[in-house]
Amino acid sequence: MMHIPDLPRLILRNATLPCALLDPAPSGETVLRDISIAGGCIARIAPPGTLAGEDIDLDRGMVWPCPVDLHTHLDKGHIWPRAPNPDGSRAGALAAVGADRAAHWSADDVRARMDFALRCAFAQGTAAIRTHLDSIGAQPEITWPVFADLRDEWRGRIALQGVALFHPEAARDDAWLMRLADLVAAHGGVMGGVPVMDESLPWFLDRVFTLALERSLDLDFHVDETGDPAAATLRAIAETALARRFPGRIVAGHCCSIAMQPADEIDRTLDLVARAGIAVVSLPMCNMYLQDRAPQRTPRWRGVTLLHEMAARGIPVAVASDNCRDPFYAYGDHDMMEVYREATRIAHLDHPVGTWPAAIAATPARIAGFSAGCLREGAAADLLLLRARTFNELLARPPTDRIVLRGGRTIDCALPDYRELDSLLGVP
Ligand SMILES: [Zn+2]
Repeated sequence: MMHIPDLPRLILRNATLPCALLDPAPSGETVLRDISIAGGCIARIAPPGTLAGEDIDLDRGMVWPCPVDLHTHLDKGHIWPRAPNPDGSRAGALAAVGADRAAHWSADDVRARMDFALRCAFAQGTAAIRTHLDSIGAQPEITWPVFADLRDEWRGRIALQGVALFHPEAARDDAWLMRLADLVAAHGGVMGGVPVMDESLPWFLDRVFTLALERSLDLDFHVDETGDPAAATLRAIAETALARRFPGRIVAGHCCSIAMQPADEIDRTLDLVARAGIAVVSLPMCNMYLQDRAPQRTPRWRGVTLLHEMAARGIPVAVASDNCRDPFYAYGDHDMMEVYREATRIAHLDHPVGTWPAAIAATPARIAGFSAGCLREGAAADLLLLRARTFNELLARPPTDRIVLRGGRTIDCALPDYRELDSLLGVP
């Protein structure tokens, strides 16, 4: 593997850059540039051969900014050996996680698994992560302080945001819900939840929007994670945001069922989503795993939302990793390049790739307010150096040969060993 010398000034020559990740963005899919790094930052991005100084030739290898993972569940991560999903279904996942949480989720347990997940993500090159945190019963008082500690410990390596995740039935106790909103505000978090298409919906949205408004919190919901076309909470969220003139940011995750609705209904909902300024994050790997699963039956749909139609309307669309080695998704490695490759295959984000590379970097950074995910002069030199010279080479072969620069310096990309978690997970 190529060695990048640790110098205060260095020029990366002949780098192939995805145009969608350059600011300002030239036209086309890729452009060949030299990048000069000084003081840990990108000093110049210039045509090949126009910068002088110590250099290394990347031989047209791609350079990406370190990506941003907008939707994860670090608190659930890696429980699979202890809590497998019995049948791969969403109901099986909810039951398995609920039992595991009740039995095991002490501060030490949550911390060890979240730290493992963060070390995976860092080695893969991720610069920023938003994680949902199961906030049910007494769990918030355990999980949120652990999250706050880890956010401090990881500052400068991975920027972290937390979102409270809860179901309407947990929120029926209004005193509990107010305490949760206060806890989220005290930790600089985001209010979330899972709106459900039943009689609880108007009350639930009204209450969550009110609590967020009172505390100036942003919102990030799990939305319509089902293939049932009757699930239309996305429209209700947009209508509520418009009616309440909600000034904060709103992210809607999943939004699977809209893909199963009639065209005129889709149009009406997406108009409202665009008007309300709602951003969407799709979780293609997890959707393909959970959606349309039934025993002894081959799945017939991919479970993903209408990424192309949303993007065409100017709705910001990100893709993210979601769960990792837990009952909601048995696999995954906190690797945004895997997410990009899989999302491209699952949702046809190719021919042309257009601006879709931004969906794992610049777009989620803008949606959540992270300063990452962009190749710009003056930005931190947080870069992925890949051997692939083209999108075809990148998408054909997993980029296991990546070099990660953080602040212009090479980091150790060795992934943590699963054996580290054996005693925690009761693996003999
Ligand atoms: Zn999720």
